[in-house]
Amino acid sequence: MRRDRIAEDIYTFSSDVYAQVVSGVILTSEGSIVIDTLPFPEETREVLAFARERGRGPVRYVINTHHHSDHTNGNYIYAEAEVIGHRLCRQRMLTQGARSLADAKRDTPELNEVELRAPNIVFEHDMFVHLGGRSLLITPLPGHTDDSIGVMIEGDRILFSGDAVLPVPHIVWGDTDETARTLRAVRTLKPESVIQGHGDLLLKGELAEEIESSIHYLESITTRVRELVQNGAPQAELQEIDIESCGKSRVPLDGLVQFLHRDNLAALYSRYLKASNPKVRSQRR
Ligand SMILES: [Zn+2]
Repeated sequence: MRRDRIAEDIYTFSSDVYAQVVSGVILTSEGSIVIDTLPFPEETREVLAFARERGRGPVRYVINTHHHSDHTNGNYIYAEAEVIGHRLCRQRMLTQGARSLADAKRDTPELNEVELRAPNIVFEHDMFVHLGGRSLLITPLPGHTDDSIGVMIEGDRILFSGDAVLPVPHIVWGDTDETARTLRAVRTLKPESVIQGHGDLLLKGELAEEIESSIHYLESITTRVRELVQNGAPQAELQEIDIESCGKSRVPLDGLVQFLHRDNLAALYSRYLKASNPKVRSQRR
């Protein structure tokens, strides 16, 4: 697993086995804070071992940026910590978590030992956590999912964005307009760097351009898929909308971004088709 030192006492771990998903560790004089846990127990244990070895005190808090299992599966490994998340993150995990975990275990035996553990401290608007001289602003960043949040470390102004910022926005469970609004909100927060839910860190100098390109990407895919649906084109024609023609590279996350892109197109296609159906019917009449 790749470990990076982002600033004094702030580290990130990036998974080797699943989509470069990132877990963060903040060491303070009164214990540690972990942001997101990793999908596979073995990697989460590596992060815990680091926090125990280098930390000054136990892991006090785990913060989940949203309910998806690649960010929450490892919660149970931090038995001594309180788990913080959005009210909807707890709700999603309690209503859908058990079934999706059971499905995942069927396909992936490495997950057999995973126990579902939802946040026990929840919030709806901004929340602050103060520990050992560190202050963290935890703020909603909806779009990728409605329970998505970001964690801004005050002072250093390092933002853990979760999947609200990704090399290619992923809106399959979310909303394109809300994702674009959140990307603008991230810019307004003026972070010195952004730690994305997957992939590389973004520096202040890269941020404006990256956010512009993501907003442009969202506009491109919505316009083009809407056009196809309006023209009655079959779903197979989505293949002609390639990621580069929407202004994004196909390289990040070892090429996984192309799957995110295909997912986005398919989701939008079925959304627009559904929305246009009543009209189609009335035209036929
Ligand atoms: Zn994710």
